[in-house]
Amino acid sequence: MSRAGPPASISLPQALAQRLIDTARGAGDYEICGFLGQSDDASQPPSLYPVGNLACSPHYRFDMDPVEQIAAFKTMRQRGEALLAIYHSHPDAPAEPSSFDLAGHSYPEAIALIISPSALGRAQLRAWVLDAQRATPLPLHIEPLDDKRGPTIAGKLL
Ligand SMILES: [Zn+2]
Repeated sequence: MSRAGPPASISLPQALAQRLIDTARGAGDYEICGFLGQSDDASQPPSLYPVGNLACSPHYRFDMDPVEQIAAFKTMRQRGEALLAIYHSHPDAPAEPSSFDLAGHSYPEAIALIISPSALGRAQLRAWVLDAQRATPLPLHIEPLDDKRGPTIAGKLL
């Protein structure tokens, strides 16, 4: 799917949102990161593509493993998906973009999804459009659990 810019909102199945929060929480003070891919068929939930974090200070920032990044994009292409979002976590900070996030967001057409597993005493998941050093919050809808399709990870249903 080709897009001129990011969509006006993002919708995630609850199981996928919960999976991101659980993974971020399980990583302790480490930032997790990866991609969400979306097929042309809007009835399909986004696919999850976890990517390793190679940053020297992985609890302050993320630096995606380039090999895993290329592999994720390849799988996305094979599945006819486009890059929907780049996600990462803030183990100790709210789910708001840092100056590093603004400067380092290399795909302006992709949504920045930030997971804060417990910084505010509860899990927080927020979506942002990062453009020209500016962060704009994007409405994020969590679809209820009665959606039985479940999230997919790199093509495999969880
Ligand atoms: Zn960040």
